[in-house]
Amino acid sequence: MAEETNSSTQLAVNPYKGIDWSSIQQCRANFHAHTTRSDGRMDPPDVIDVYHEAGYSILAITEHDHYTDAITWPWSKWDRDPVELGMLAVQGNEIFQFNDVGSLFNGYSHSPPGLSIEEVKEGLDEITSRHGLALFYHPGRSGEKHAWYADFFSRYSTLLGLEVFNQSDRFSTDRLTWDRVLGLTMPERPVWGFSNDDSHRFEHLFGNYQFMLMEELSENALRRALQGGSFFFCREPGRSGRALAPRVEGVLVNEERCTITIEGAGWNEVEWISEKSEIVGRGDVFSYRHIQSPFVRVRLVGPFGETGSQPFGFVRSRG
Ligand SMILES: [Zn+2]
Repeated sequence: MAEETNSSTQLAVNPYKGIDWSSIQQCRANFHAHTTRSDGRMDPPDVIDVYHEAGYSILAITEHDHYTDAITWPWSKWDRDPVELGMLAVQGNEIFQFNDVGSLFNGYSHSPPGLSIEEVKEGLDEITSRHGLALFYHPGRSGEKHAWYADFFSRYSTLLGLEVFNQSDRFSTDRLTWDRVLGLTMPERPVWGFSNDDSHRFEHLFGNYQFMLMEELSENALRRALQGGSFFFCREPGRSGRALAPRVEGVLVNEERCTITIEGAGWNEVEWISEKSEIVGRGDVFSYRHIQSPFVRVRLVGPFGETGSQPFGFVRSRG
C-alpha cells in the first residue's frame, strides 16, 4: 500500500494537447476508396463528387496497385480541381494483396504481394523513401498477431496506425487487435486508429470517417494531424452522409486531479477502454490516478453511431 501512495501516474501522451477548440477546423476525411480504375464500380469523378457533396474535405482514392497503372492521381485527369472544390486530395494507393497497406502522399506502385515480413518491409521502405505515410488496412482480413504489427510500428515512423473500422465493421476483432498492439507499444509508441469506407460502390459510402483537427486545410496541417493523432474516428451505420456520429468539441485535462474530460454532443454512453479492451470507466470524466494500463481511449456511443478517440498514454513514477 505504501508503494501505491508514493507512486503517481502522469499523462505522457495526449494527442489533443495544445488544440485551440474555439478555432480548430474539423475536417471530415476518408483514407480508403476505390473506383473503376481498380475493383470499384463508380468512376473516379463520381467518387470525388459524392464525397464533395456530402461535405468531406479530405479524400484519398486508394486503388489496388496490382491492377495495371492504377494510381488515380491527380484529380485533374478527371477534370476535378480540389482547390475549387474546397478539398484536399491525397495521393494514395492500396499496396500488397495480403496485409494490405494504405500508402498516402506518394505514388509508389507495383508492390510485391506482401505475404512475407520481407515483402512488407520492402513496401514500407519504398513509401518511406518517397516521404509518404502508411497505415495497415483491415488487419482482421489477414489475421496477423498483435506482436507482428507492434514490431512494424517499432521499426517505421512512417506507419501511422491501423483501421479499427472498415466498410462499416467488416472485421470486428480489429479493435481487439489495436488494444493488444497498444498494450505492447504504449506509451512510447502511439498507434492511431482509423475508420474508412473502403468504398467500392454506392452502398459503402459515408459509414466510416474521421474528423481531422486542423488549423487550415493543407497537406502540412493534415500530416501534422495524422502524425500527432489529433483526430477522431467514427462509424455511422445509417450512412446518412451528414456526419451524425458523436462530435467531440473539447478534451480537457486536469493534471493535478488526474482527470480527462470529454466535451461535445451526440452521445448517451461513454466508455473508457484500456489494455485487452477492458472498460475501466464510464461517463464524460475519467480519472487516471490509479490506472494500471499504459493507455486509455474513449468510445462515445450515440443514437446514430459511435466515435472513438486516439489513445492517451501514461507513465507511472515514484513520487
Ligand atoms: Zn481497399
